[in-house]
Amino acid sequence: MTLKIAIAGVAGRMGQSLVRACETVDNCEIIGGTERPGSEALGTDIGNVAGLKPSGVEIVQSPAEAAKNADIWIDFTAPIPTLAAMTALDMTGVKAVIIGTTGFNEAEEKALQEFSKRFSIVKAGNFSLGVTMLTALVERAAASLGDDWDIEVLETHHRRKVDAPSGTALMLGEAAADGRGTPLKDLQTPPYDGITGERETGKIGFSVRRAGGVIGDHEVLFGSDEELISLRHTALDRNVFAKGAIKAGQWAVQQSPGYYSIRDVLDL
Ligand code: NAD
Repeated sequence: MTLKIAIAGVAGRMGQSLVRACETVDNCEIIGGTERPGSEALGTDIGNVAGLKPSGVEIVQSPAEAAKNADIWIDFTAPIPTLAAMTALDMTGVKAVIIGTTGFNEAEEKALQEFSKRFSIVKAGNFSLGVTMLTALVERAAASLGDDWDIEVLETHHRRKVDAPSGTALMLGEAAADGRGTPLKDLQTPPYDGITGERETGKIGFSVRRAGGVIGDHEVLFGSDEELISLRHTALDRNVFAKGAIKAGQWAVQQSPGYYSIRDVLDL
């Protein structure tokens, strides 16, 4: 059965990436897409906007119109438009909603969860399936290895990145801290610089590199006095997020309404 997808913010970076990724996935069709009021992309063809041949699907403003024949809605925009779309989708046949938008505050997150009575929702801050697997492996290793194993998270990104450590590095640190049953804020070491003193047992350290065009490289090192284990993920293409979101959609459309994470999709 072909999965019919409508995309919020389809002219954005992730929107375009989703349109291109769907071309490479079997039984996947983009049947609608929205843009914000006033966007120059309104009325243009979804294929053209993504640098592909015309698809015959025009970008519209109304989520209800874009999703009127859709099975799933994929949203990588911003918290307020994401929440507004959920209300508009209620009258459509959409079964599942995939949310990659980040930056929800607590009240918005709660409001979003209310919609899981109506839709199967998968929300994730990182839709890379490889990073999801790495997160599960890190939690498992941290839980099984004793506190005498040092844990160090190393991340490398392109020179244009403005924040550090990356959100994904912090997520990996949290997975390691979860494995140890302690909040990350109690285990995270300050950045190493100058006379730091000896490394404290049981702490989780972070190191950061910025160079060239690296899309994203994350490594978690576990070290004892006698041996080292290194778990590492390298993103080779920015379309990892789009492909992960489409895979989540294929999974979610078969689930009952509920609020799911990307780890549920991979059964991790
Ligand atoms: P972007 O700015 O390139 O795209 C967002 C698009 O949403 C824009 O085209 C904008 O015009 C559109 N938009 C805004 N309001 C709208 C409305 N009311 N209706 C329809 N469209 C509207 O940003 P991006 O890089 O594509 O990122 C978008 C979001 O996805 C951010 O929150 C980002 O943090 C998140 N993100 C998540 C992942 C992940 O794996 N979860 C990966 C990358 C980005």
